[in-house]
Amino acid sequence: MAGRRRGPVPARREGPPQGHGPIRTCVGCRTRALAEELLRVVAEDGNLIPDPRRRHAGRGAWLHPAKACLDSAEKKRAFPRALRVAGPLGSDLVRDQIGHVARPTDDPVVPGPAGHRKQVDPS
Ligand SMILES: [Zn+2]
Repeated sequence: MAGRRRGPVPARREGPPQGHGPIRTCVGCRTRALAEELLRVVAEDGNLIPDPRRRHAGRGAWLHPAKACLDSAEKKRAFPRALRVAGPLGSDLVRDQIGHVARPTDDPVVPGPAGHRKQVDPS
């Protein structure tokens, strides 16, 4: 059977990704992505606050949880513009949040209570 050809796959993907949910634009790289793939950021007291649960009211900026996007957004001063606030915004908290997200998961597998059965000695 030689019917399988590895021809060009018609996967022309342009524009926003297909999927569920709202589309937002990353303020860093200006790429559109699903809101759930982006980190929402709000401004509070001159600081950028990560809002992963999207609980904060008011304007939010959307950012890929990536250092490159954060750097880019800061360079462009995209946050004050997106959030309609004046002046520079501290980004330490967002940087911290991104660090957590980007960190590879190396959590050790903790044995659950299932392996801790009481052994009854039948005597
Ligand atoms: Zn981005």
